[in-house]
Amino acid sequence: MTPPCPRCRRLAPLRLRVRGHAIHRCDACDLEFVSPTPSPAELTAVYTTGYFQGDGAGYRDYFRREREQVARKSHDRLAALRALGVTSGRLFDLGCAAGYFLGHARDAGFTVAGAEPSAEALAAMDPTLRAAVVPSLDALAAEARFEVITAWDVLEHLPDPDAAVRALRARLTPDGVLAVVVPVLGSTTTRLFPSRWDQYKPPEHLWFWSPRSLRALLADHGLSVVREDIAWRRPARFIDLDGTSRSPAVRLARSLDALAHRALAAVVGPHVVTDSVAFYARVARP
Ligand SMILES: [Zn+2]
Repeated sequence: MTPPCPRCRRLAPLRLRVRGHAIHRCDACDLEFVSPTPSPAELTAVYTTGYFQGDGAGYRDYFRREREQVARKSHDRLAALRALGVTSGRLFDLGCAAGYFLGHARDAGFTVAGAEPSAEALAAMDPTLRAAVVPSLDALAAEARFEVITAWDVLEHLPDPDAAVRALRARLTPDGVLAVVVPVLGSTTTRLFPSRWDQYKPPEHLWFWSPRSLRALLADHGLSVVREDIAWRRPARFIDLDGTSRSPAVRLARSLDALAHRALAAVVGPHVVTDSVAFYARVARP
C-alpha cells in the first residue's frame, strides 16, 4: 500500500527496501521515510544494551572509538555557535549518549544539561555530568529554557520528529539556537546507488531529509536556518565500501573512484559527496 507523505499528504511511492523495511519518497517535499513505522517494541529493542558496544545495530565501540571523533566534531560545532555570537548560557543536548559533547560544551563556558534514555550510555558518563541528565525531554522541569539546544544525529531515529522539534522549540529562549545534525539526501550515492548508502539503516534511521526538506521541517515550527556546515562526507563510495580489499585492482579502482568524486565535488559542489549536514536555526522573526 502506498502511504501518504506525513508532511503534504500526497501519495509517496516506494523508493527501496532495506532489511525488510520499506522506504517511501515524496518528491514534492524531498522527504523519505520508513513506512509502516516500526512498533514501539521493535524500536526499544534497537537501543537496549549493546547499541553503543556490540556487533548488532548502532556502534561497535562508542565509548572508545567515538570519543576522539566527538572531540573534533564538538570543536567545530562550538566554533559554529561562537560564530553565531553564542558563547555562554544554558545548553541542552538531546540524545547526549555518554555526554562527551556536554563535557566540551561545559569546558567552553556553557551551563549544560541533557537527555539520554540508554542506561549503558549513562553508566559510561562522567558522574558530574550525569547529575544534569534526564531520561527524556518530558522529564525536564516545566520552566526549563535554554539558549542552545542540540540534537546531533537524533531526529532521524525518532518515530515523530515533528513532535520532537515542536517540543524543543518550546524550550528555546527567544534568541535561542537549535542545532541539529542529520544525514542528508542529495549525494551521488543517494541519487544513483541508494542501496549502497549506509545511512539507509532502518529501524535505526526512520527519516531521510534533503537540506531543503530539513529546512522545511524547522520552518514548520517557526525556526529559520541561519547556518549550514558539512558534518561529514566521504569521497569514495561505490567500490570496496569498507576499504578492506587487498586486491591491487580493487584498491586502484577505489583510488580512482575517490579521485573522480573529489574532482566532481570541486566542479559541481560539495553536496555530491556530503553525507550529513549540521543545521543551526533561530526563532524566525515575523
Ligand atoms: Zn510530501
